[in-house]
Amino acid sequence: PETTAALQRRDAAHHIHPFTDTGALNAEGSRVIVGGDGCWITDSDGNRLLDGMSGLWCVQIGHGRREIADAVHRQMSDLSYYNTFFKTTHKPAIDLAEKLARIAPSHLNHVFFTGSGSESNDTVIRMVRTYWDLKGKPEKKTIISRWNAYHGSTIGGASLGGMRAMHGQGGLPIPGIAFVPQPYWFGEGGELDPDAFGVWAARELAHAIEAHGPEKIAAFIAEPIQGAGGVIIPPETYWPEIKQICDRYDILLVVDEVITGFGRLGKWFGSEVFGLKPDLMPIAKGLSSGYLPIGGVMVSDRVADTFIEEGGEFFHGFTYSGHPACCAAALENLRILEEEGVVERAADIAPYLAERWLALGDHPLVGEARIKGLMGALELVPAKPSRSIRFDNEGEVGTMCRDFSLRNGLVMRAVRDSMIIAPPLVITREEVDELATRARKTLDDTLDKLQR
Ligand code: PLP
Repeated sequence: PETTAALQRRDAAHHIHPFTDTGALNAEGSRVIVGGDGCWITDSDGNRLLDGMSGLWCVQIGHGRREIADAVHRQMSDLSYYNTFFKTTHKPAIDLAEKLARIAPSHLNHVFFTGSGSESNDTVIRMVRTYWDLKGKPEKKTIISRWNAYHGSTIGGASLGGMRAMHGQGGLPIPGIAFVPQPYWFGEGGELDPDAFGVWAARELAHAIEAHGPEKIAAFIAEPIQGAGGVIIPPETYWPEIKQICDRYDILLVVDEVITGFGRLGKWFGSEVFGLKPDLMPIAKGLSSGYLPIGGVMVSDRVADTFIEEGGEFFHGFTYSGHPACCAAALENLRILEEEGVVERAADIAPYLAERWLALGDHPLVGEARIKGLMGALELVPAKPSRSIRFDNEGEVGTMCRDFSLRNGLVMRAVRDSMIIAPPLVITREEVDELATRARKTLDDTLDKLQR
């Protein structure tokens, strides 16, 4: 077989990677992944790594389930591709739309299919603005998002996202997007206690609405728990206050469930965990457990009825909206999630994962350990107790820690100087023990290096 070095050379020569420093990649080479099985992946040198990130927060059922490959094979043998434009449809799209309507919160009975979370959020922008046009309020155009949010990498998704580094590349955001602070107590809570800070952060939304003029505000978009921004778990006071503000000003609530959907927080959707009633709900990732690319926007009766009654044609869609093979993969994934009680299993294992993860908070490098459901973060700090003193070169220690983690056979992600996990929902008690042991060894290795 081809050596790792040879694969890396060919990769660096021709392959431009997402979210990767291409210069560094050329110098160091990529990890080459060759296999996946349950919560584990295998690289080209034969190392087995515990996939603490479920790929990119998506492999709910674990890697390597044959049933999905078989379902996709069956579908492709019957109908490998057809579109859903111009009053055309097919059974896999019908079955999946119906199933999603049953699984999602009861007022979300419609879905617009996309190929990814980014496309779902692009669709959100156009749907929100079209909705208000149809309602005779075309001035309602501005969508409020949060600094540091991640909503994808298309022009629309990256504009809705609040990552300044992304805005800096390509002249973003597009017009009509505004930002408010995130409820990031550890990093930005100052002297306030978490509950008071949660209320403060939520009321920033009201202030922004007033500042722009409520008649101009179309929607607020947020993830129930911000994922790529660093697993920012909002204080308990945050969401109830946000809900009231959205109602008071009659703006649509868009809950981006691309990460939190399909059991990540121990219920089918994060909206159920936080008692939210989204008008639109972008989904992707766990919908197919990442086996094939598919996403969608779940649409409430309120919005769908307006499109149906007043709409005419919605000039929007993707060649792969409702792709039959991707729908087949999603349907089989949902069958596994339901029949094997995977969401309930996630809820069952969550307290044990929390116990082991939160115990890492006693490590000298860890300023805060936090977790909800199967999403966790460790904030690395140079000294304790401290929320205000950070490492000089932001991100350097996080990256070092991430590299030690890989060497220790655990995939964790570094966000600035915090370490993130979001393991497959099928993780067992033994694998949680493995994860915790490897994470602690990783922290020790990192501290060791810092002290040398
Ligand atoms: N929204 C959220 C909350 C995400 O975390 C992501 C991806 O990580 C996206 C949207 C974009 O999804 P995709 O990468 O499938 O385009």
